[in-house]
Amino acid sequence: MVRGLCAVLAISVVALSAQQGRRAVSLIVTGGTVVAMDGGNRVLAVGAVAIDGRDIVAVDTADAIAQRFSAAETIDASGHVVMPGLINTHTHAPMVLYRGLADDLALMEWLQKYIFPAEAKTVSPDFVRAGTRLAALEMIQSGTTAYADMYYFEEEIAKATKEAGIRGVLGQTIIQFPVPDAKTPAEGIARAVAFIRQFAGDDLIVPAIAPHAMYTLDAATLREIRAVATREKAPVIIHLAETPDEVKVARDKYKSTPTQFLESIGFWGPRTLAAHAVHVTPADIRILARRQVGLSHNPESNMKLASGTSPVPALRTAGVTVGLGTDGAASNNDLDMFEAMRQAAFLHKLTSKDPRALPAPAALRMATIEGARALGLDREIGSIEPGKRADLLVVSMRSARQTPMYDPLSHLVYVTRGDDVRTVVVNGKVVMRDRTVLTMNEGEVLADATRWAEKVRQAVQPAAKVH
Ligand SMILES: [Zn+2]
Repeated sequence: MVRGLCAVLAISVVALSAQQGRRAVSLIVTGGTVVAMDGGNRVLAVGAVAIDGRDIVAVDTADAIAQRFSAAETIDASGHVVMPGLINTHTHAPMVLYRGLADDLALMEWLQKYIFPAEAKTVSPDFVRAGTRLAALEMIQSGTTAYADMYYFEEEIAKATKEAGIRGVLGQTIIQFPVPDAKTPAEGIARAVAFIRQFAGDDLIVPAIAPHAMYTLDAATLREIRAVATREKAPVIIHLAETPDEVKVARDKYKSTPTQFLESIGFWGPRTLAAHAVHVTPADIRILARRQVGLSHNPESNMKLASGTSPVPALRTAGVTVGLGTDGAASNNDLDMFEAMRQAAFLHKLTSKDPRALPAPAALRMATIEGARALGLDREIGSIEPGKRADLLVVSMRSARQTPMYDPLSHLVYVTRGDDVRTVVVNGKVVMRDRTVLTMNEGEVLADATRWAEKVRQAVQPAAKVH
């Protein structure tokens, strides 16, 4: 009887202390201005985010979070903005090793005289690995926590991305001519299937299949790729309507536009991401909206290669989800998504002659929640909300350039640079703390990239000039 009473008392004491006590979580980021990018566009002047394991469990004022939670680790974000990690919806990560190799050329000349020959001589699993590590380092340092990629030896990219601790929707590239990892498109498709199966269900990697473009693949191969993607339940990533040359190929070969040709062969479907969509007609836009194709807008690459201006405001009005991307570093020449946001906002104001076109909050949405939606990941990432993965940035707002701050959304788009990111959390883990990347050895990554640059230099020089 007495023992029973003691047990009841003990249970009551435990229940009472749990009520009064605070829930233990793994990480709290507190004291900063939280820009949540959620449905209500919540901005908390002195906010906090409670994280447990890989997930966000609460977003509230700093006081409210302090009352409800205790954390194993706390990050003081006062004087900083806390925002969702940036999502780069289009790049070719290893191409950072071709950064600045050949500038100021049109796409076809740049591809055919420099990039394709350089790739033929240098791309290997080791090259791809070194390039991805360099790209991941740059992405972490500039606040990108998730990216979409299309390249060769994508399994090496996936391994390096996982080691770096960031998220990737990674597409094994298929192209009609022989490439370093496949002599034929059939071989490329077989590689893609093996890759998709290898990384299915991974916590950080979403494996995908990436047909290069409608002008570099025949109709039969494009149809087969769609069938494989549907069977394997994998996303598809493709370049679309990037240049007038591509439009000409579609017209000459198929009497169609690139978008309408792909529609005619049943290529479009959900979980499809198309990069660029520069040269699209109103009818093309209707197809992209109806098929729920996610788009990646790459303003810097489009400007640098003079490809044209994607009609982003019209696409968004039509209901197409448009994310932002940098494209490969060889045509940009960096992976800084803050710069991509600013350039996107400026470009559309200029071309539409309307300063209200693409305002700062819209550019910020494209780089976060709309990018997530374009990748089919908006339930997991893209905003700071309970139940989503903890992918977030702590961005300094303390420099002369950023003072004073009336509106954090304006600052994030119009004055912030990648270097202002201090701390990066991905999947609940701190991958950069106070500018120190914790998941890789920065010196080693840079030295390795510099070694590869010498091989690249030799590969693109005429034999007589090598010595
Ligand atoms: Zn591209």
